[in-house]
Formats: sequence, C-alpha cells, structure tokens
Amino acid sequence: KAKAANGPELVYFDDSLQSEQKYRFNLEQAIKTGLNSGQFVAAYQPIFSVNEQTLVGFEALARWQHPERGLLGPGEFIPLMEERGLISQLTEQMLTHVALQLSSWQLQHPALFVSLNLSALDIQKPVFIEKLTSLITTYGLSADRIVLEITESLLLCDWQKASPVLESLRALGVRLALDDFGTGYSSLSYLHRINADKLKIDRSFIEHWSRTGDARLLKTMVQLGINMNMTVIAEGIERVEELDFLRQLGSEQYQGFLTARPMLLDELERDGWLLR
Ligand code: C2E
Ligand code: MG
Ligand code: MG
Ligand code: MG
Repeated sequence: KAKAANGPELVYFDDSLQSEQKYRFNLEQAIKTGLNSGQFVAAYQPIFSVNEQTLVGFEALARWQHPERGLLGPGEFIPLMEERGLISQLTEQMLTHVALQLSSWQLQHPALFVSLNLSALDIQKPVFIEKLTSLITTYGLSADRIVLEITESLLLCDWQKASPVLESLRALGVRLALDDFGTGYSSLSYLHRINADKLKIDRSFIEHWSRTGDARLLKTMVQLGINMNMTVIAEGIERVEELDFLRQLGSEQYQGFLTARPMLLDELERDGWLLR
C-alpha cells in the first residue's frame, strides 16, 4: 500500500479490495438464504445458582447451521447483519425459538428463565416488541420468565429512543439484564435510568482476577449489583477457584464452561439437562 503508485501493487490492492467486497456480498446473500430457510438456531447455555449449583435458566445464543461450513458463532454473522439491516430478523427468530422452548418447558420447569441478546439496532427500531407481545399471548408465557439482555453501549447511542422502548418492555412484564457490564463507556448514572433486574459481570473481570490476583474491580462490581438490588450473574466461569471466589463475593448466579457450554437442543436433551 505504501507504494500505491507502483503499478503491480496498486493492482494487488484493488484485487484484494474487490475480493473483500465479493466475500461480503456472498456472505450477505448466504445470510439472507439462511434467514429464510431456518438455518439460524439457538444454543442454550445453562445458568446456575452459585450456592446450590442448581439450574436456574438458560442464555440463548445465536448459531448458524451453515450448509457447508458447519456450526458458526455470532462473530461470523452478527456484525454484517447489523450493518446490512438484517439483525431485526435474527432477533425475531431468536424470540420465536425461545418462546417455543419456554412453552415446552413451562409445565415441568415453570421457574426456569431464558435470556436472549438484543442488538443496539433493536432498541433504535423496536419492531421486535410486536412479535414479543404476540408470542407471549400465543404460547401463554409468563413474561417474567423472559430476560432481554442489553448492553450499556446500546443505550448510549440514543437515550431519547431507548427510554420509551424500555418502558414498554417493563409494561409487558419481561425482565432486563445489563450484559457485559463495565466494558462500555457509559456512566454509572445509567444504572438508575435502566433499572435492570440483573447485572451480568463480563468474563474479562473474572479473568483479570484469575490472572493477576487483583480483585478490586470484580469485588466492587459484584457489590454494586447487590447494592442496586440486582441479581448478579458472573459470566465465563472456567475454574473451580473462580466459582469459589464468586461465592465468597456474594454473586448469586453464574454461567461458564466449568459447568456447561452452550448446547443445541438435541444435546440438551441427550445429556438430560432438563431432567435433573
Ligand atoms: P454474550 O451475550 O456476553 O454471551 C456470552 C458469551 O460468552 C457466549 O459467546 C458464550 O459462549 C461465551 N461463554 C460462556 N461461558 C464461557 C466461558 O466459561 N469461557 C469463555 N471463554 N466463554 C464463555 P458466543 O455464543 O460466541 O456469543 C458472543 C456474543 O455474541 C454474545 O456475548 C452476544 O453479545 C452476541 N450474541 C449471541 N447471540 C446473539 C443474538 O441472538 N443476538 C445478538 N444481537 N447478539 C448475540
Ligand atoms: Mg448475553
Ligand atoms: Mg455477556
Ligand atoms: Mg460477555
């Protein structure tokens, strides 16, 4: 690139730009096909109580069952979906998956909740609320078993828009969780405004303690959640020592590879996650 005036390298640069555009175009087409043919599914990661280690709920995480490339994680498709205005379709499909599961679990496991992630664009353009309302009615769900995970950066963009959306979600009776807390740029005063039910502590804070033994931020964040009357959920617990430490700090719930990874439905059933 430094010698862009030089013939061959300019051609090379153009080529790679073109192939990048082609790659993105093909990916977008494949995503659209996938959205229209049910290739986007939910993986469910169990969430446990820290003290009793009992199952309390699941987080639904989007996966793409790609016909050639196999099972793909959100990093492979969410950025482009957000950029190309396709994310609201994913949100609606995830809501549909979750509603179906909640309804099939509600007789035997009425206390379980399922949470799912919203995108910043869902808050700016909240077409999903209508879908959510109709799913709750159709399946006769208890709205308080549905948790919507939002990030602080998602609210930063436009509070004027976000505020009435959060109001209508509250009116519906669904719960709100503040995801990846502490990794964005918002000020603590957002905690008052958002008034979320749950606080999810990002894995990076647990990892920092594991790596360095420095617990100052982790401790403070757990205490902040407790003081705000929020249910504190620690994300990304990989080691027994981490779980023991969180118990000491008073975190109420956790999810992490230590106990369970996100699983597709057949695996959840095969491994008997709902029978225990
Ligand atoms: P997130 O909401 O913070 O989800 C937690 C992520 O941490 C998941 O990654 C999960 O697999 C991973 N995780 C859980 N336990 C552990 C652990 O012990 N160790 C490690 N290293 N990782 C752990 P995943 O499924 O790749 O999702 C990444 C992100 O993609 C999510 O972060 C969320 O921001 C986004 N995402 C996932 N599904 C959706 C969706 O349906 N809609 C939207 N808008 N975003 C989604
Ligand atoms: Mg999440
Ligand atoms: Mg998170
Ligand atoms: Mg996270």
